[in-house]
Amino acid sequence: MAVRTRVWVLPRRLLRGAAGAAALMALGAVLAWWRVQAQAPPPVMIDPGHGGVDGGASADGLLEKAVTLDVALRLRRHLEAMGVPVRLTREGDEDLGGPLTRGRHRRDLAERVRRTHECGAALLVSLHANSSRDPTERGFLVFYQKDAPASRELAERLDRALAPLARRREPPIARTDLYVLRNCRPPAALVELGFLSNGADRARFRDEQHMERVAMALAFSIYEFYQSLIGTR
Ligand SMILES: [Zn+2]
Repeated sequence: MAVRTRVWVLPRRLLRGAAGAAALMALGAVLAWWRVQAQAPPPVMIDPGHGGVDGGASADGLLEKAVTLDVALRLRRHLEAMGVPVRLTREGDEDLGGPLTRGRHRRDLAERVRRTHECGAALLVSLHANSSRDPTERGFLVFYQKDAPASRELAERLDRALAPLARRREPPIARTDLYVLRNCRPPAALVELGFLSNGADRARFRDEQHMERVAMALAFSIYEFYQSLIGTR
């Protein structure tokens, strides 16, 4: 009984002053926030590569940074329609590397990883567009972090989903030198959406229907992988 009495005495003392009441309200707000945070499902992080001062690869007036953002915005729309919370590392034409000094590119990549970790994302999909000296090279390529089984599974799902939109299917490629994949804690994959250096791929990047199909294919495979992750928590 003594314990119960003490439990009641503390709030009453606290409530005596206006400061005490404010403190209790603040504590309540923190607890409510914590409860929402604890129950909210983790988001999927979509990373449109490059942006701002960094246009990425380019050809015939088409910039990689615009292609990646275009697909990212479509992808977010489809995933949200499926009930999956989505974050983007960038929402507009901006770079994340800060001042234009040495190391800007590395800082830009680090910030993408930091934002992924900060929001507690369940997975990361980074979007890029390729370029080659060989103008006949075309098509999708999907990369994963070597020796990271979840990263590989995500890449395989993305690759399978994109296969019907490709002339020739390339299996996902293991890498150890891609900063975002190497440093991301949750499963991560990087998709090269096609070659800006190839005329046919460039035409596809300008084709609204094709871009929608790509976004849909990515959305379905991400949705499946996300469900399998969340279901096992
Ligand atoms: Zn790129």
